[in-house]
Amino acid sequence: MQYRGRFAPSPTGPLHFGSLVAAVGSFLEAKKHNGVWLVRIEDLDTPRCMPGVADDILRTLDAFGMHSDEPVIYQSMRTAAYEEALQQLTASGAAYPCCCTRKEVADSALHGIEGFVYPGTCRDGMAHPRATPAWRVRTGLPVSPSPIEFEDALQGRVAQDLARDIGDFVVKRADGLFAYQLAVVADDAAQSITHVVRGADLLNSTPRQIHLQRLLGVPVPCYMHLPVAVNAAGEKLSKQTLAQAVDVSQPVDGLWRALVFLRQNPPRELRTADLDKVWDWALANWRPEKLVGLRALPAMTDELEHRGDE
Ligand code: GLU
Repeated sequence: MQYRGRFAPSPTGPLHFGSLVAAVGSFLEAKKHNGVWLVRIEDLDTPRCMPGVADDILRTLDAFGMHSDEPVIYQSMRTAAYEEALQQLTASGAAYPCCCTRKEVADSALHGIEGFVYPGTCRDGMAHPRATPAWRVRTGLPVSPSPIEFEDALQGRVAQDLARDIGDFVVKRADGLFAYQLAVVADDAAQSITHVVRGADLLNSTPRQIHLQRLLGVPVPCYMHLPVAVNAAGEKLSKQTLAQAVDVSQPVDGLWRALVFLRQNPPRELRTADLDKVWDWALANWRPEKLVGLRALPAMTDELEHRGDE
């Protein structure tokens, strides 16, 4: 079977070092396997997406020499597919409408690994039906029992008691937006993705995605979660932590830094080489196993780099 990988940025801000690392890691892993590498723009949460940012991300990837092997798809154009997936879940009884407010869920005071666990109030019908309910998917079903386990290529065996740690989760919000968990599963299946390479911040989401894959009867891809880039305060680089945009005019330097972060030890002289040369070296020397067990690493900053010289 041909390897099919993808990079799936959310256009909430320009590409920063943390997302560059995920792009480079997924690209190298796909190319190493003579596979296909796709770019998917996850612009589902339209209120948080900034106009022009998706194009800016695609231009940056192009400048770095990373081009999608098939046309880029946009989640904002795919809501019909998500609606169909939701209907399939509803028809089988796996999804149900929920009218609970955030406060009502919080009042249950059941804590999980990502905040409150839904106490199941609407499982057998809504107490006060609402015209536009949210939709939740049941956990702990016989076709997908808890714990959900998988073998991550870098993080090893992961087991999560989905029913206890997360609970019945939202797949469509009351405001009509589909949740990331459902969209990503529908798209990975529609694009026949065989391998998902992304940041370890999504490790906790993977059991939810495997649960949905089982319920929808689609293949479960192989997963590889790379360490996330953190700043000096130990926070994940993101728009919220004011991560700087990648310098599109310096792709060689950016790629070199990403390779340092990914523990590939690129030789210094590559820093002033042609972009093609850096990619040739990176492909010939790609050893993701150097990242086994690492969930976070400091981002490659000027300061860190100079410390290495002393
Ligand atoms: N869009 C997600 C993000 O930018 C990534 C989703 C994924 O790779 O599954 O964090």
